[in-house]
Amino acid sequence: MKISVVKETAPGERRVALVPEAVAKLRAVGLDVLVESGAGDGAWHTDDSYTAAGASVVSRADALAADVVLMVGKPDAAAVAALRPGQTVIGLLAPLTDPDLTAALAAAGVTALSMDMIPRTLPRAQPMDALSSQANIAGYKAALLGATHFGRFFPLLITAAGTARPAKVLVLGTGVAGLQAIGTARRLGALVSAYDVRPETRTEAESVGATFIELTSVDSAAGEGGYARALTDDERMAQQQELAGHIARHDVVITTAQVPGRRPPLLVTQDALKAMAPGSVVVDMGASALGGNAAGSVPGETILTENGVAVIGASGLPSSMAAAASAMYARNISALLLYLIDDGALALDRDAELRAGVIITTGGAIVHPALTAADDQAVQADPATGTSRLHPDQPDEGAARAVPGSAR
Ligand code: NAD
Repeated sequence: MKISVVKETAPGERRVALVPEAVAKLRAVGLDVLVESGAGDGAWHTDDSYTAAGASVVSRADALAADVVLMVGKPDAAAVAALRPGQTVIGLLAPLTDPDLTAALAAAGVTALSMDMIPRTLPRAQPMDALSSQANIAGYKAALLGATHFGRFFPLLITAAGTARPAKVLVLGTGVAGLQAIGTARRLGALVSAYDVRPETRTEAESVGATFIELTSVDSAAGEGGYARALTDDERMAQQQELAGHIARHDVVITTAQVPGRRPPLLVTQDALKAMAPGSVVVDMGASALGGNAAGSVPGETILTENGVAVIGASGLPSSMAAAASAMYARNISALLLYLIDDGALALDRDAELRAGVIITTGGAIVHPALTAADDQAVQADPATGTSRLHPDQPDEGAARAVPGSAR
């Protein structure tokens, strides 16, 4: 069976689906590994390093013709057009927010496995949990970004030239990324507070050094499978108002809140930004084309508000640490492959729970239960533009002034 790695085509994406170390492991179980020329460049893996690990370096057309095609993100339109029925595609395909791609993969007749749909709570699937591996990197980098853009120190410093008080950092959303952001900011010496709408995260946040903030206006919004549910309009407004007071008291705010399949919840409103002190920093890991956790954040850009608050649209952070992110993703995807390989072929039937979680299309149809049962309140595709539109209860807010330069 031929397994291939294609070069990522999304703008700014530097990660690669397999690193040479992972190639060697797949070769050891008898798989032929093809790597598109240049696929590893962004993560500092040369074509020669793949050849040395036992891969064949091939053209894009040859890579796209393999039995199993591996990628980090989504295939572009030309790649989808090149796929043929019977092939398998594996990547972070984001089917909950990109129904058009899912439909196109189904129409192409390919079997698509989405790494972001792996059932994370299955113990045997934990080595395959790419959402966690990439969120860990993103949380770490978000804390570093906050420290870099903040014009003062994170730690308490007592020097002959004066004493610097420690920075006050607030982390909103304490899932995998938020916990890593807390730990990293603490290691840099900041005083860290944290909030999540799932109260059970309190002990986790405290265990990595944060003081947990409880809001009196919003009850638990724990949803299914350990994720948060979307808030009602009333809950959302109450949360935003109460959070604004806490936000104003912090120097750096790192937002990581997500609700699966929906626009990231708006936690830092325009009013909250206006109440922050000049020189404060907001690192919005929820920044996306759909809108982010902070009002007016733009993915990949740093915005400076009228009152001097930097709002960093911190999307794509794993790609900014492409070597580490690729190594971890490669371990995740190889763990999935090595688990499923039987007698040189992918035995997709061997594990019903894993199969039901990870396969989104096969045999010309969309098969994932979360996609076939998606309600009309989830993020929906706009056929006119090919983009997704916001859930109506999440109006976006106006953007502030853009500062030239990237967020990273
Ligand atoms: P996520 O990326 O979906 O969301 C990040 C955080 O944002 C979550 O903690 C969520 O509660 C929070 N959030 C959502 N809406 C919010 C709002 N309006 N206000 C404040 N916070 C809000 O989360 P994740 O990091 O992917 O983790 C999701 C769950 O999966 C967690 O329960 C985590 O412990 C669990 N998990 C389990 C395993 C495992 O069992 N092996 C592995 C990874 C994650």
